[in-house]
Amino acid sequence: MYNIGIDLGGTNIKVGLVDENCNIVAKATAKTNLPRPAEEICAAIIDTVWKVLGEAKVTIGEINSIGIGTPGVANRNSGVVLYSCNLGFKNTDLRTLIKKRLDKPIYVENDANAAAFGEVLAGAGKGCRDVVVVTLGTGVGGGIIVDGKIYTGFNFCGAELGHTVIEFNGRQCSCGRKGCFEAYSSATALINMTKETMEEHKDSKMWEIAGGSLDNVDGKTAFDGMRAGDPAAKELVNKYIEYLGCGLTNIVNTFQPEVLLIGGGICMEGDNLTKPLGDIIKRDQYCIDPNKSTRLDICKLGNDAGIIGAAFLYSI
Ligand SMILES: [Zn+2]
Repeated sequence: MYNIGIDLGGTNIKVGLVDENCNIVAKATAKTNLPRPAEEICAAIIDTVWKVLGEAKVTIGEINSIGIGTPGVANRNSGVVLYSCNLGFKNTDLRTLIKKRLDKPIYVENDANAAAFGEVLAGAGKGCRDVVVVTLGTGVGGGIIVDGKIYTGFNFCGAELGHTVIEFNGRQCSCGRKGCFEAYSSATALINMTKETMEEHKDSKMWEIAGGSLDNVDGKTAFDGMRAGDPAAKELVNKYIEYLGCGLTNIVNTFQPEVLLIGGGICMEGDNLTKPLGDIIKRDQYCIDPNKSTRLDICKLGNDAGIIGAAFLYSI
């Protein structure tokens, strides 16, 4: 038997056919084409499911379930997306909309939670029961796995780790609060802080790296500046890592997960990031036995995590 895992995003609908060993045996992608009604999005999802089945020469009878990871807040019990700003969904009954086109068990979960579950099933958290995943992207996303299950709180709004404050009355966050973890540690935050640092240091090598324009600044600019020996870049990277380390230590102290995973483009920095972060967490965490402390690691599955996690939602 197989399961279908779907990563429903604002830009793309990614559909994967997943075998019992968490291998994606076939994949297809369609454009989400927003804005458009949920009915049309669901029709596009089903078309893509049939495409994947056709390519893999697998019949619908061999499909056990269909799982969908969606942006926003999803009630996994009812299969209703309570709210998604991104997709324009409000109390959208995704389960029924899909099921009336394809009569299989349908599971719906928030996309970051599904991706965290995927990393636990087949990625860097494999074999662990208690794992927290933090994704450093446009925002700071989170997924919490407790005793092998996705934790969302009673109203499905939990795991918003990015909106915990690490600097009281600090930088303005998009959520309305000031000083959120996300306002310091997302890729967007790093880019903003890089631009500010460049404005303050007109002689910084980061200007050369960015081809003389703030428009070219990305999440790598500060790290590249540091590698080129630029003192302002080095100071900024150190500051960024201290903030990130602060937010991650809060997570360690709250959950004491076996593994804390970080994901997102910034993680391409590898040891340059995890080594100093690990030192900060070791320095600041609440720990009574160093042999039993959280392991920090980088997510392994990339975009496949969401597909694999969604495919196995039926199992929890
Ligand atoms: Zn916030």
